[in-house]
Amino acid sequence: PVSRPDDVNEARVLLPIVAEEQPIMEAILLNPVVIICGETGSGKTTQVPQFLYEAGFGSPGSDNPGMIGITQPRRVAAMSMAARVAHELSLPSSRVSYQIRYDATVSPTTCIKFMTDGVLLRELATDFLLTKYSVVIIDEAHERSMNTDILIGVLSRVLKLREDMWKNGTADIKPLRLVIMSATLRVSDFAENKTLFPTPPPVINVAARQHPVTIHFNRRTFSDYVTEAVKKTTKIHTRLPPGGILIFLTGQNEITGVCRKLEAKFGAKALERKRRMRQSASNAPDQPEATAEGLIRPAQADVEAEDLDLGEQQIDDLALDVDADMDEDQDPDALDSDEDTEEHQLDRELGLDSDEVDATPMHIVPLYSLLPSEKQMLVFKPPPEGSRLVVVSTNVAETSLTIPGIRYVVDCGRAKERRYDIANGVQAFQVSWVSKASAAQRAGRAGRTGPGHCYRLYSSALFEHQFDKFSKPEILRMPIEGVVLQMKSMHIDAVVNFPFPTPPDRATLSKAEKVLGHLGALGDATSVEKGISAAVGSSHDGQITELGRLMSLFPLSPRFSRMLVSGQQQGCLPFVISIVSALSVGDPFLHDETLTAEDDDDEDTPSDRARRKAFFTSQHTHSALGNFTSDIFRILSVVGAYEFAGGGHQFCVDHFVRLKAMEEIHKLRAQISNIVRANFPAAEAGFTSKLLPPNELQLKVIRQLLTAGFIDQVAVRKDCVQQTASSGVKYSTSKGVAYKALGVSEDVFIHPSSVLANSPPPEYVVFSELLRTSRVWIKGVTVINPA
Ligand code: ADP
Ligand code: MG
Repeated sequence: PVSRPDDVNEARVLLPIVAEEQPIMEAILLNPVVIICGETGSGKTTQVPQFLYEAGFGSPGSDNPGMIGITQPRRVAAMSMAARVAHELSLPSSRVSYQIRYDATVSPTTCIKFMTDGVLLRELATDFLLTKYSVVIIDEAHERSMNTDILIGVLSRVLKLREDMWKNGTADIKPLRLVIMSATLRVSDFAENKTLFPTPPPVINVAARQHPVTIHFNRRTFSDYVTEAVKKTTKIHTRLPPGGILIFLTGQNEITGVCRKLEAKFGAKALERKRRMRQSASNAPDQPEATAEGLIRPAQADVEAEDLDLGEQQIDDLALDVDADMDEDQDPDALDSDEDTEEHQLDRELGLDSDEVDATPMHIVPLYSLLPSEKQMLVFKPPPEGSRLVVVSTNVAETSLTIPGIRYVVDCGRAKERRYDIANGVQAFQVSWVSKASAAQRAGRAGRTGPGHCYRLYSSALFEHQFDKFSKPEILRMPIEGVVLQMKSMHIDAVVNFPFPTPPDRATLSKAEKVLGHLGALGDATSVEKGISAAVGSSHDGQITELGRLMSLFPLSPRFSRMLVSGQQQGCLPFVISIVSALSVGDPFLHDETLTAEDDDDEDTPSDRARRKAFFTSQHTHSALGNFTSDIFRILSVVGAYEFAGGGHQFCVDHFVRLKAMEEIHKLRAQISNIVRANFPAAEAGFTSKLLPPNELQLKVIRQLLTAGFIDQVAVRKDCVQQTASSGVKYSTSKGVAYKALGVSEDVFIHPSSVLANSPPPEYVVFSELLRTSRVWIKGVTVINPA
């Protein structure tokens, strides 16, 4: 008895996966594990949970009373997909719910639960059998996020356990089913991995209803892809027939910059203004109107996009046929020859571009993960009548969200990725080329509603030679102490024997165990045991300690959990909770760059200057706590002030912090306080909305805790350990003063955003982060033993 709104019924029958409902349900009922592959937009995420629901999964009293769980690598997807499925089934959010780190709509009557993969991993620590679930769907498995990989490994064991217990007739235990969904056909790491699934699971391929997408490569690769994206979008908009444009860029700043530029050119208001300008400058006021009527605007004409070349090499369909001898020097803008009509002349005198003034308005929507969720949802709304939808997005739109009505894709070919150097812990946010598989996914977004076009802002030669075939699984790129601790807390002691879809490097694994050992989370194997295991070629993994078990209860990196567990003295817990919440969410402060927008033609106005002054005053206020001895105190101060003010948008404007970050910190504080209350009965829980400033003694204790928490991340002023030219020099600020950090061969420097940047450089500091840009910076700095 399922009732769906009429428009949903109409849209559903068009989804390729709906035709496969029966074979999919049969496979799921007959096999413990099923893999489903289907193009993005074929209906996997929204429909498979509904098939299961209609087959009785998730209804109390049925054969499969447990909930239907679906994991997503991204919060945006978990929230928006739960809302969509609730709408399709006409059910409230208490039945079709979501849970992410900061938020949840789950209730005792939830039957379909969307969650991030991290949330499910955490549930396994307290309920290894996942008794609340009858089926778990791991979505977006092709992305190979670390949590997804680990979940698949753990669930392969949980399935076996549940089945054994059910066969032995254990009361109330029913088998668990696992569905793995992927947007690509490359599932061999799961399907053909005998240690993972001894019986290979069936793979169901959902026939793609993908229209052909024509790929256009640029003849040359421009390094300024942001400007190039604006140019290309301008051409598409002024010359090609209606249809949404989806632009892939790498991050928030680029996205807001491009949105601003497009808004200034084609926003409804901007166009209105330009037309008024033209009209009042023209001698015959109705002349331009008439001309405009007579003119067929290319963007409205009924021509086939295939007929229009925008000055790139064309390659049909997704099959790529590369011409290596292509002339790389030919001007890609050669086709820009506007005829010289009278109107064009007038426009030129006015500094206007006729094509642009006559264009239809653009409805421009940004999409990135730091955007507030209600704004993220705007991409699903149809654009106003008579305007063209333009979505400017990070790779969130690559496979997680299908945006309707996209006909053109503009792909910069790059993505921003967090990279760690496992050896020294230096992290860098690097913009680098995506894989060929990702580029194909991006192109595919243009072919959902009809034939489409993908404009790649790079050459086909570059694509052929520089792009990897597939992206590397995250577990090969990131430190894994968090997941290792989680696994140990589930009593998976021999992590080396764990059925990873792709095993991490030995070095990464031993580094993780070393960090956990330092933090006291793992008992140290004796040197004799180590010698024996090395001799027999196995590794003796340390077992989790009581401290480690307590640490694993928190949804935080092990280092932060450790600070919490040992932070229960002198009434410091509320402060420590605030600090680790803020460090987990990320720096809430807007930095000076954000105030001086990159727009080259924007002069410094007096209001800019006033704003900058306010910025520095505000920064100073928050730095004063603890007399400039720690960046962390500045964060603590702003969190306290935010709570004291009762939160709110205005506070964030006045204090130059990000609202979304502050809200997340607030929620994480509440959540951590609850965990503390439940597990440390003796502790003062510490979540008081009014957080008073710490006293002198408390500040001292907090500084000691920070030092202990980051003791393996210390830096010493270089001239104090090495005889250098500058030894003995008295510095007035830390600017340009080199430090040596443990395990890092290069010199490191205190980041300019630090409270210590403008004061004399301390000899010893600990830091929370190493970041490489032009040089290696230390961030989140705390002075050890200030004078
Ligand atoms: P897949 O998971 O296979 O990529 P989805 O189930 O996410 O596919 O999407 C199926 C269809 O549902 C797509 O056409 C998509 O545009 C549509 N859709 C998804 N979410 C929404 C939403 N919030 N509003 C409107 N349409 C949506
Ligand atoms: Mg999906």
